[in-house]
Amino acid sequence: MKKRYRPETEAVRIQIDKTHAQEHANPMYLTSSFTYDNAEEMRAAFAGELKRNIYSRFSNPNLQEFVDKICAMEGAEAGYAFATGMSAVFSTFAALCDAGDHIISCRSIFGSTHTVFNKILPKWNINTTYVDIKSPEEWHKAVQPNSKMLYVETPTNPGVDLVDLKWLGQFVKEHELILVVDNCFATPYLQQPIPFGADLVIHSATKFIDGQGRVLGGVTVGKKELIEEIYAFGRSTGPALSPFNAWVLSKSMETLAVRMDKHCDSALKVGEFLSSHKQVSWVKYPFLASHPQYEIAKKQMKAGGGVVAFGIEGGLEAGIKFLNAIEMCSLTANLGDSRTIVTHPSSTTHAKLSEDERLKVDITPELIRVSVGLEHVDDIIEDIDQALISSKA
Ligand SMILES: *Cc1c(COP(=O)(O)O)cnc(C)c1O
Repeated sequence: MKKRYRPETEAVRIQIDKTHAQEHANPMYLTSSFTYDNAEEMRAAFAGELKRNIYSRFSNPNLQEFVDKICAMEGAEAGYAFATGMSAVFSTFAALCDAGDHIISCRSIFGSTHTVFNKILPKWNINTTYVDIKSPEEWHKAVQPNSKMLYVETPTNPGVDLVDLKWLGQFVKEHELILVVDNCFATPYLQQPIPFGADLVIHSATKFIDGQGRVLGGVTVGKKELIEEIYAFGRSTGPALSPFNAWVLSKSMETLAVRMDKHCDSALKVGEFLSSHKQVSWVKYPFLASHPQYEIAKKQMKAGGGVVAFGIEGGLEAGIKFLNAIEMCSLTANLGDSRTIVTHPSSTTHAKLSEDERLKVDITPELIRVSVGLEHVDDIIEDIDQALISSKA
């Protein structure tokens, strides 16, 4: 049997195949289909008797390599790679839920996931009950006889709230629910939900996994029997990742651990700086002792991640002034990039929600989200500092 290395090493070394050129970097398999030497081989491949690639909507070596790396880091049995994080999210629900099933989800989740729960799944009579991530008592009340799945993000976007994964693992066992964790903010390097009892883990690979703002991608990994259903759904409906993007993402996995160490070191420094700033009313970062769930963070995460949330003195108006005064950091919708990104959710990503709906998901007018990048941390801090000072005027 092949020797297994530590997860970070597997993320660097896993290589599905080489071409006859014996290249060192992993090759790219830009092909829509695969060939066979004869009719018998082709028949056996289609019958599933021979493990071979058939068509890149079903499987491709670049996708398999990327999935294998995520599985190694998450401790998962199997996985399937998607064109975007949202296709991973939607396909996971569509593959596993039947008409009439019920889903329980934490209320603060990625905006498009809300749309899937509120507007798309109800077409098939699949309905969702939202619970407050910080009030586990609510969760017991949300369970119905037809509840099938429990969905959480931890840390949440953009509020960086956490759920205790150990508690959650016991909760889903007691109620026989499929636990699906969107692990996008933590990445497979900082947090592995499967040992706590998660059945499936989803990533938007667009974020820290690519880490350089180049490609979109998604992946679902976890229990083999569930992944088989997701694979069957993907194979027939076509949300597969492109081989080129899979190659980019597989290369990115080689640097995920070192990038995340730097993102986390700098984010902690930015969080500490903000905590002592006069123009800042509050700061939330999982590895700051002031985070209400600091103890949980320490138990389930290796470090606090790359995203810091804070409240700016002066609310909505100051938030807009702050963004206008930013010189170096980028104003863009993405996160998890090598370049620092600042956003003001209530005037942008969550502007479509009513004030009431925003408050329910903890998006207050003064909330600013910083996705801390890989620039020198002093340049990030100096830019934020001068913009905060300007926001006062
Ligand atoms: C971005 C994001 C997604 C969706 O990913 P895409 O690649 O943009 O489709 C899902 N969940 C979370 C937490 C995200 O941040």
